Amino acid sequence: MNYNIALLKGDGIGPEIVESAVKVLYKVGAKYGHTFNFTDYLIGGIAIDTVGDGLPKETVDGCLASDSVMLGAVGGPKWDTLPGDKRPEKALLGIRSAMGLYTNLRPAKLYPALKDASPLRTDIVEKGFDIMMVRELTGGIYFGERGRRQGKNGEEAYDTEAYSVMEIERIAKVAFETAMKRDKRVISVDKANVLESSRLWRETVHKVAKDYPEVECTDMLVDNTAMQIVRNPAQFDVVVTSNIFGDILSDEASQITGSIGMLASASLGDTTRGLYEPIHGSAPDIAGQNKANPIATILSAAMMLRYSFSLMEEADCIEEAVNKVLDKGYRTADLAKSGETALSCTEITEKILSEI
Ligand code: NAD
Repeated sequence: MNYNIALLKGDGIGPEIVESAVKVLYKVGAKYGHTFNFTDYLIGGIAIDTVGDGLPKETVDGCLASDSVMLGAVGGPKWDTLPGDKRPEKALLGIRSAMGLYTNLRPAKLYPALKDASPLRTDIVEKGFDIMMVRELTGGIYFGERGRRQGKNGEEAYDTEAYSVMEIERIAKVAFETAMKRDKRVISVDKANVLESSRLWRETVHKVAKDYPEVECTDMLVDNTAMQIVRNPAQFDVVVTSNIFGDILSDEASQITGSIGMLASASLGDTTRGLYEPIHGSAPDIAGQNKANPIATILSAAMMLRYSFSLMEEADCIEEAVNKVLDKGYRTADLAKSGETALSCTEITEKILSEI
């Protein structure tokens, strides 16, 4: 098969890590008989510098015409003084909204070879964990009515959490479909003991759950979830939650894996076209030095194969190659302990390629 992929390399380490993922995709394509065609488009600071717009129309059109999109990272000190709506990071919201992406999938998985890097106690880490956070991305309090007004104590500000049945149903379906490809367990996170929007969330998730009798569905309050993620992360398979709760919990879950350079993500909508990117930023402190860990981006490419192209075996092949490289003790600087040799971005990419 032929797949057209738009590449948004962006700023800082973006070009280096996306190049690594491209090499991996070429190798997987050659192994399994697929052709991946790549087209570069500008986004972020480099787009501001080149054409005066962080998200040029050509980029949006190119992404919408592609089968899927891979992003490096955007931003850096050079553009930090620009006003909020002109900053490179604004382009991220723009491209997600232009592509109609309402789901964010973020795996937080412990690699046994990296368990020393986790800040959790050894007895907790020993059990391992593999959590898939499914976060609603375009609704809730981040998009609700907000403002300032005069209240009984003077000036006050407010933000509104509102969710429609439609928004909850579609994210719940993504969570149950994802669980069907995994361990068939969904934990739906809300604050239904206090919030009306959470009560509708819970009711709606339960209705959708009826269509997935094989999947075990449990509710968990968000405050308890925050505790359980550090107390017993092994209990989670798929976690589905609202935009704001997902924002906070997915960062918490990412931290217990120990390294930001390992964490992939996917943003999805109603079509198979998704946006795949590492969760870290543009790491300006190490940009251009061939020191970046490309694994988060390579694992994002594996997610693209799985979620956009349904190439399960090919996705597994990439993940297994990463596992083998880590098991053999190869590390980039962000993963190496003192005294361990650190491989460069290109060197670790070569090691991964040799396992495919
Ligand atoms: P960051 O994630 O870029 O870096 C945090 C720290 O982690 C740095 O020390 C960095 O060197 C290290 N790091 C990150 N990714 C790494 C990798 N792959 N390999 C090795 N080390 C890695 O976060 P920050 O410093 O807060 O932000 C830098 C810039 O990135 C800012 O302009 C910020 O707005 C932007 N940003 C972009 C995105 C995105 O594009 N999705 C996300 C977060 C931040």
